Formats: sequence, C-alpha cells, structure tokens
Amino acid sequence: HLADQDPPTIFDKIVAKQIPATIIYEDDQALAFRDISPQAPVHFLVIPKNRSGLTRLSKATEEHKALLGHLLFVAQKVAMAENLGEGFRVTINDGPNGCQSVYHLHLHVMGGRQLTWPPG
Ligand code: 5GP
Repeated sequence: HLADQDPPTIFDKIVAKQIPATIIYEDDQALAFRDISPQAPVHFLVIPKNRSGLTRLSKATEEHKALLGHLLFVAQKVAMAENLGEGFRVTINDGPNGCQSVYHLHLHVMGGRQLTWPPG
C-alpha cells in the first residue's frame, strides 16, 4: 500500500472493528457502512480499508485509479442491494469548501427519496 503519514481517523477504528458501525458490505479493499447521521432514508459510506494516502480525493495519483474505480463500483453494487433502483446520489466532499469532516476518502451514497439539485 501507498505510504500515509497523516493522522488516522475514526474510520480506521471502524475498519478495525474497534468501534461499532452497521457494516453492509466488505471485501479485501473496501468497506460500506451506514452513516451515523443519515441525510436520506438510505445513506451509507464506501471507504477504502487502507486510506493509502487518500485523506481526500484531491490527493489521488495515477496509482489510485484502480482503487477509485473499485469504490465507485462498490457504491452502485451496494445501492442495488439496498433497493435504490429508482435512483441515488454518490457524493465525495473534498476539503474545507466541500465540507469534508473526516479525512479518510469516502463516497456518500444517498437515496430512498426524491433528491433535489443543487444540494446547497
Ligand atoms: P464528510 O463530511 O467528511 O464528507 O462526511 C463524514 C461522514 O461521516 C458524515 O456524514 C458523518 O455523519 C459520518 N460519520 C462521522 N463519524 C462517524 C462514525 O463514527 N460512524 C459512522 N457510521 N459515521 C460517521
């Protein structure tokens, strides 16, 4: 895995199962779990188990392309398992202007109601 000198976040504890989370998907690279503060009837996060330097999306390099593709693939796969066939939204908040609060890359997947655009 790529080096990562940044401080760990609470998501590392979720990956390590040191704090509880409602995990709905797991494979060797990715974890999906329900957001603790859901903004829609279905709201889960998809994260890389190993942050691999991706504190935020804008840290991505060529080496991250396969992982990024995998996370997006997992997002739709779990969305379908969550019965979001009527549609859903995938969001990545990056940095202060993006209102990012946890510096471990994560995809928000929200659905289960009519979403509005732009999100505000
Ligand atoms: P951000 O604002 O960084 O894009 O999103 C971080 C998300 O992580 C928020 O939606 C927040 O509710 C969620 N979150 C923060 N801490 C925890 C936690 O301990 N457990 C779970 N399940 N979600 C968390």
